[in-house]
Amino acid sequence: MSEELRILFVTPEAHPLIKTGGLGEVAGTLPPALREIGVDARLLLPAYPGLIEQLNAQPLGAPLQVLSSMMPVQLFHGLMPDGSTPAYLIDAPALYHRNGPYVDENGKDWPDNALRFGLLSRVAAMFGIEGRSFGWKPQLIHCNDWQTGLTPAYLAHASGIRACSLISIHNMAFQGNFPPHWLTHLNLPRSSFGVQGVEFHGQLSFLKAGLYYADHITAVSPTYAEEIQTAEFGNGLEGLLSRRKDQLTGILNGVDSAHWDPENDPYLQATYSRSKLQGKAVNKRALQKRFGLEADPNVPLLGIVSRLTRQKGIDLVLAIADELLSQSVQLIVLGSGDKSFEAELRQLQQEHPETVGVHLGYNEKLAHFVEAGADIFLMPSRFEPCGLNQMYSMLYGTPPVVRRTGGLADSVIDATPRTLADGTATGFVFTGDNEAELLACVLRALILFQQKTAWRKLQISGMKQDFRWHRSAQQYLALYRSLITEG
Ligand code: ADP
Repeated sequence: MSEELRILFVTPEAHPLIKTGGLGEVAGTLPPALREIGVDARLLLPAYPGLIEQLNAQPLGAPLQVLSSMMPVQLFHGLMPDGSTPAYLIDAPALYHRNGPYVDENGKDWPDNALRFGLLSRVAAMFGIEGRSFGWKPQLIHCNDWQTGLTPAYLAHASGIRACSLISIHNMAFQGNFPPHWLTHLNLPRSSFGVQGVEFHGQLSFLKAGLYYADHITAVSPTYAEEIQTAEFGNGLEGLLSRRKDQLTGILNGVDSAHWDPENDPYLQATYSRSKLQGKAVNKRALQKRFGLEADPNVPLLGIVSRLTRQKGIDLVLAIADELLSQSVQLIVLGSGDKSFEAELRQLQQEHPETVGVHLGYNEKLAHFVEAGADIFLMPSRFEPCGLNQMYSMLYGTPPVVRRTGGLADSVIDATPRTLADGTATGFVFTGDNEAELLACVLRALILFQQKTAWRKLQISGMKQDFRWHRSAQQYLALYRSLITEG
């Protein structure tokens, strides 16, 4: 492996250590997939509580002076729990020993997030700056989302030979914008605070910094890479992104096929495959019982696993709920997020205890169970950089209803007479972000659900999809190679 590319993958979360969403899943699965194809990929993340122990990590060198406004911090290195991937941890207990990586128990951002993720960004850059020795030197630093956005800025302002940088956008909606006084605390040069730099509407923007200074940008699906160049999806950064469109590539995420495989899933009541679908019915019955719903195999069971936010179109689902529940359907929702959506869902469940099940909270095991037990998966996101749940649902024989946006558009093939006939259909796709189109799309799914042979064919074509990481890992490898060669 020593002859191969050396990539530092810097991230604020990585499954199975800590995960709040898609980025955590990617960080836990892309680096091992890269290692399988010969890339020396390693992780860097904050030492949140318990991580040093979980990785059996050892101190690496002497404490490191990273930011002049802060005490030195200790780096640790260990191996991810499955033994696949080396990982570096930044031990700064005053910053990272908290419950929740980004927000407190009331959902409020930690007030010192600029410092917490400025530190992460700066340590990542130090790996790529000439003269720094950590016993290993990456050729490219792969940054992820705003929390790592300052790394390319630090690299750009460093002298001497430096590693290349790539930033992946998992979600443009989170930008990490902070008052400008942070510039000094974070040891950024004054000269960087301008339109040609880290400044965004008078604020220091971590994401803007990354998008401006990185050698290359990726988005987590080809459609999202196009969408973020428009005002509707670019969150004010569309101008910068369209100017950099030649350095912007969309690469669809893969899924962790070891954890998301109905044939081999310890969280299910019964495992199943596309040639032996009977186990799916066992899961449906168990899921209905778990939520106190009638265990009727013929009633279509709709499932949702989601952050409860407007992005995910939860308001659209609530808007059509009464109309939908006037049909013979059941609905199960697993999610957490906006308190108002949580309250509305709780109320919906109380009004329809026989047909609606709601579990508020984050529960990995139940997420697998809902994917397996539901008949139809709802994911009407307003925007969706990539989305994982629609891919899980296809692999679990639970055709999804999705909006044609981002990774949903790139991964789900709408059931039309033609795609049903040629066996390529994998789900149901609608276009507008309004409840009428969502309702019409769900009704289309409900009609097809009654046609057992056509439904079986739809399930099987979804279960046949290859969403494993190896394809995306090859695309990243090609990109790393071209950047390192150019650099
Ligand atoms: P996002 O990253 O925008 O939240 P994705 O679909 O890309 O959406 O990824 C969400 C990930 O988080 C999936 O692995 C999904 O199963 C998981 N997830 C979301 N909400 C929950 C929940 N309440 N309980 C368990 N897993 C959840």
